[in-house]
Amino acid sequence: MRIWIKNPLAVLAGDTGGGIVVEDHVIAECLSPGGNPASAVDEIFDASEHVVLPGLINTHHHFYQTLTRAYGPALDKELFDWLKTLYPVWAGLTPEFLDVASRLALAELLLSGCTTAADHHYVFPDGLEDAVDIQAAAAQEMGVWVTLTRGSMNLSVEDGGLPPRSVVQGADVILADSARVIDACHDPSPGAMIQIALAPCSPFSVTREIMMDTAALAADNGVGLHTHLAETENENAFCVEMFGCRPLDYLEQVGWLNDRVWLAHGIHFTSDEIARIGKAGTGIAHCPGANMLLASGLCPAVELEAQGAPVGIGVDGSASEDASNLMKEARQALQIQRLRYGAAQVSHTDVLRWATSGSAKCLSRNDIGEIAVGKQADFAMFKLDEPRFSGAGDALAAVILCGAHRADRVMVGGGWRVVDGQIAGLDAAGLIARHRAAAKLLTA
Ligand SMILES: [Zn+2]
Repeated sequence: MRIWIKNPLAVLAGDTGGGIVVEDHVIAECLSPGGNPASAVDEIFDASEHVVLPGLINTHHHFYQTLTRAYGPALDKELFDWLKTLYPVWAGLTPEFLDVASRLALAELLLSGCTTAADHHYVFPDGLEDAVDIQAAAAQEMGVWVTLTRGSMNLSVEDGGLPPRSVVQGADVILADSARVIDACHDPSPGAMIQIALAPCSPFSVTREIMMDTAALAADNGVGLHTHLAETENENAFCVEMFGCRPLDYLEQVGWLNDRVWLAHGIHFTSDEIARIGKAGTGIAHCPGANMLLASGLCPAVELEAQGAPVGIGVDGSASEDASNLMKEARQALQIQRLRYGAAQVSHTDVLRWATSGSAKCLSRNDIGEIAVGKQADFAMFKLDEPRFSGAGDALAAVILCGAHRADRVMVGGGWRVVDGQIAGLDAAGLIARHRAAAKLLTA
């Protein structure tokens, strides 16, 4: 099957004005303006009204949190108080709740142009031991590439941590299940639909042994490592009190400062720490919406990237940044980064790069995130036919500056997943009804 996405209005890829030829799952040709495919095609898609981007890649999320968006008791709180308010609610998660939350989050992401999503699931109350398997099945049916990170917490409030005992697990259980889900779900090959990474919730919610053993397990199995780091100044102080050093020093001590790792947030670093992260090639999932809503701070993304760290974009969980819209997140990244670095240092092409190839690097994937021959055929395509775009000059800039947030077409691995702004084959109203009922039960 050969499809020609012909003559796009604009495209985020060098000299590709003639369009892109997709063969099976991958990009077979990138055509310069006026160019024609080298051989016959089965289908032509006229993209003359579409801005074509590589499929967007989300590097940090907590799908289950879609059930606690705008949750009244947690409103207007900063990170630690916010977490302490929500942990007892999340302790009520069931397999049904996680299934519907994952599907809803994936639907929301897909509609924003996201074709690959990383999720960080670290809440394992009794009965939810198969959380990763539930998410893998949901992603398979939704037709979105995922990196599912097997999270962990083994320090409850009794041990000096933040979560209640009912959502933490023992070290043996965590390590055995981490090995099990790698065996069961991780596909290392190009075009993999499901990959696994290992992800203690944060360095202060697990023991030193869990950090070290998790790093060893990830290295043995060639999978990635993920955690939250340096999100707030409170966390830095907590870490100094608990471990006698700053979070990045601790991370290095436990064998986590390397290019297998990507960190959520990465806000409160010194310039020396930024240089060390860059040198190590450790990735940063920049989550501007959550950072603004929880008043956490401003990630030094431009400096991190300049020092060699891959920078990607994450929407974060839907209880901190209550929307899972990757285009909105990219726009917020542009705005907040300009506040730090000025207009000339950060452009719409920078944030689009972070949301695509930068995110792919964080996830250690070189088969996605770019429109180039041999890459997976993943595209997010936006029409500029709403009032918000009318009169726009530069079409590529317009998708960020005018606030595009709903894709007209999305292709994942050569197949159309969004057509005319709707997810193909999904009963969206039925999913929302099921999700709303679950949210009501969980927060009752
Ligand atoms: Zn998070």
